[in-house]
Amino acid sequence: MSKLRSTRKIRIGCLHIGGDAPVAVQSMAATQTQNLEATARQIEVLQQAGADVIRIAVDSDADVEALKTLRKQFPDPVLSVDLQENYKLAPKVAPLVDKIRYNPGHLFHLEKDKPIREKVGFIIDAARTHGCAIRIGVNCGSVDPDYKKKYRNNPIEGMVRCAVDHCQILDELKFEDYCVSLKDSDSGKVIEANRQFASERPDVPLHLGVTEAGLPPDGIIKTRIAFEQLISSGIGDTIRVSLTLPNEDKGQEIVVGREILKDIEEGRFRSVPENFLDGLNIIACPSCSRVENDKFVELAQEVRTMARYAEKHKITIAVMGCRVNGPGETDDADLGLWCGPSRVNLKKGTETLGSFAYEEILGRLKKELDLIIVEQEKKSIKLQ
Ligand code: SF4
Repeated sequence: MSKLRSTRKIRIGCLHIGGDAPVAVQSMAATQTQNLEATARQIEVLQQAGADVIRIAVDSDADVEALKTLRKQFPDPVLSVDLQENYKLAPKVAPLVDKIRYNPGHLFHLEKDKPIREKVGFIIDAARTHGCAIRIGVNCGSVDPDYKKKYRNNPIEGMVRCAVDHCQILDELKFEDYCVSLKDSDSGKVIEANRQFASERPDVPLHLGVTEAGLPPDGIIKTRIAFEQLISSGIGDTIRVSLTLPNEDKGQEIVVGREILKDIEEGRFRSVPENFLDGLNIIACPSCSRVENDKFVELAQEVRTMARYAEKHKITIAVMGCRVNGPGETDDADLGLWCGPSRVNLKKGTETLGSFAYEEILGRLKKELDLIIVEQEKKSIKLQ
């Protein structure tokens, strides 16, 4: 049985999270919001899977218009909006949704001279006027540059400090209906960041997620590792499982989330293979409206198949869906790929190797993978 949670209860439309409310399970439309047919289908798929909250990304006035149409078509589901780099859209989206997620790491993009506090106040005014909840969503790949610089030797501390400081701004603005998320693609870092945050702010509901967990089954195991540790100790009020899946299968994120919760509740902890993640680790993002080429999911699957021969080597390959977050989200990987409309960018550590056609990228990736394996083998011979 899980320990009791000590967070306050907040309202998101007709749903409550925190306190003694059941842990809510949510997901996000992976389609481009303006593609009305595809996004409507995503909402249907997630609704059918039993999502408690469905999130949609918005970054432009055209996205807001699309959201208006979608809301008319789907008046019932609890909708959350992901404000990407354009925080000024808050008053336009707030009447249409139940929750607004802002990423503190994206607030610097617009009006660079305006204090962050004023920008947060602007979002909060919109949320308060229209009865929306807020999520302060901190993400390892897009940490506020000031915190990234200040805590460069301790990125987890940087994420936690950023989240705690934003909570303080909301507290000072006397806004209570908010939750926080601290996501990373590494289960261990998710556990550490959320534990640290919860010990400082045990009252604030937490949205848990391992970002870019990747393809099933590895992505499910990574997520399970984090959720088992946190939820069983009373940390976590809503969850999102991020898996790299074709859009029609996105409902699996909800199904998997509920399975994990049920297992934890009933004391069934799956033992994690001792050597899991000791060898090859493939990270892939769950895809979202920023994906510019649908070949992304297929590419992630092909990378895994191609790299199978290297499974005993401790190497991380990150495959990301877009050019916006791809460069940052691949920073910690040995080899990083991020997808553009017609080409895929490749990076080895922090060195950019160039961009390649979708047909070429696997071959080039294999070449780099082979080189890393040779480098590792040389190192281990030297150590013997
Ligand atoms: S890396 Fe890009 S495409 Fe993938 S989930 Fe993040 S923002 Fe979306």
